[in-house]
Amino acid sequence: MKQTADFINEDLIWKLLEEGRKASPSQVEAIIEKARQFKGLTAAEVAVLLQVGDQTLLDNMYGVARDVKEHIYGKRVVLFAPLYLSNECVNNCLYCAYRHDNKEIARKTLTDAEIIEECKYIEEMGHKRIVIESGEHPGKAPIDYICNAIKTIYKTTNKNGSIRRVNVNIAATTVDEYKQLKEAGIGTYTLFQETYHRETYRNMHPSGPKADYDWHTTAMDRAMEAGIEDVGVGVLFGQFDYKFEIVAIMLHAQHLEEKFGVGPHTISVPRIRKAQGSQLQDLPYAVDDASFKKIVAIIRLAVPYAGIILSTRERPEARDEFLSMGVSQVSAGSCTGVGGYSKASRGEQGEEGENTAQFETEDNRSPDEVVQSICRSGYIPSYCTACYRQGRTGDRFMQLAKSGEIQDVCAPNAILTFKEYLMDYASPETKAIGEAAIVEHVKALKDAKIRKQVEEELEKIEHGVRDLYY
Ligand code: SF4
Ligand code: SF4
Repeated sequence: MKQTADFINEDLIWKLLEEGRKASPSQVEAIIEKARQFKGLTAAEVAVLLQVGDQTLLDNMYGVARDVKEHIYGKRVVLFAPLYLSNECVNNCLYCAYRHDNKEIARKTLTDAEIIEECKYIEEMGHKRIVIESGEHPGKAPIDYICNAIKTIYKTTNKNGSIRRVNVNIAATTVDEYKQLKEAGIGTYTLFQETYHRETYRNMHPSGPKADYDWHTTAMDRAMEAGIEDVGVGVLFGQFDYKFEIVAIMLHAQHLEEKFGVGPHTISVPRIRKAQGSQLQDLPYAVDDASFKKIVAIIRLAVPYAGIILSTRERPEARDEFLSMGVSQVSAGSCTGVGGYSKASRGEQGEEGENTAQFETEDNRSPDEVVQSICRSGYIPSYCTACYRQGRTGDRFMQLAKSGEIQDVCAPNAILTFKEYLMDYASPETKAIGEAAIVEHVKALKDAKIRKQVEEELEKIEHGVRDLYY
């Protein structure tokens, strides 16, 4: 029998938001204090924080979000790149350039040879972790195509470069197809809800399989039933009231935790951007920077163990600020077109009539520049993929994340993978900045035994050894 997404109860969401408005400052403080203990928050508590307008309380909230992030994940910021496989799509999402009825973009599905070529460009930027993206098209990009792409990517190497974790962002599908993805070696399965509000969802998704709200919203249930342990959720902010969306994310996380014992591994926070041929004229629910900062901080307090992912949709200055608020993963050097990396290297990006991009990016810095900026802000870029390869997934990962013990592996792994990056890909300027950062982050390792071990492993990397991890 078809599952309905009754765990997203709209009446309850509005009721919680209404009650949240009545909370006193001391109640707000008590909730922030609870979050400081890394206990996470309930949907009702999140609804209270969403209604806070007082600057002193907001500043308190931001400070605690920073502390929570550093307690759980330390100073590391994980880097990744998207790889767009196909922009063929049978759906018609109004905000997306890939929608079926859009005649303004060139359609393309990468061949095996093109996937290898794209992969090599991504590896040349130093990336070890990618997320593959594809429109939904059972004819042009069926599940066999996606699984074959994953295997091809894992097999493709370029000098010292290899992709060690392939995350997948494709349309909602059946338990059987999710099983195939798992067998192909998927890292995290990510699917953005776009909006949890049924009526808005209906308007934004007029046709195609994705128009079915229940099918889309219960996708993570099927993925987890198929044995995929790490799933990533997200909202495309700007379609509906962000306060409603955040409480809904909480209900979704709570549902997964109750049913499978594991909540979302990651939460993505994209904001709607311009897209060629988009049907959206005005955006009454556009989220400004101040509200966006609040969104990131509240998610960090509410679901402390989840990775928060920010894409190159955000401006560089804003991305750096959100890092301190709780973001733990960022994309860098992204191309959002199919075959975009190879084209960019040939200077063809944006050529008239040949646009294949899903949306416009705001952060067009090279990975090298992003790395420098992360170091300057006191963080350390990480190319780590260790948990997935060590079997630290699902509830095994969650136990470590919830207790903050994950930091004991995150920090050494960030140092070792960043050292590899500096040796193999960095410009001389980045190398100097990065080496200085490594010295500081090694000093900050609390356990003397681990510090010594990391120092020895850094030596080995200097002498050509690669892929060391905890
Ligand atoms: Fe297709 Fe996804 Fe774009 Fe919708 S958002 S049109 S499903 S590619
Ligand atoms: Fe992510 Fe695990 Fe590596 Fe930490 S150790 S960065 S949680 S893969």
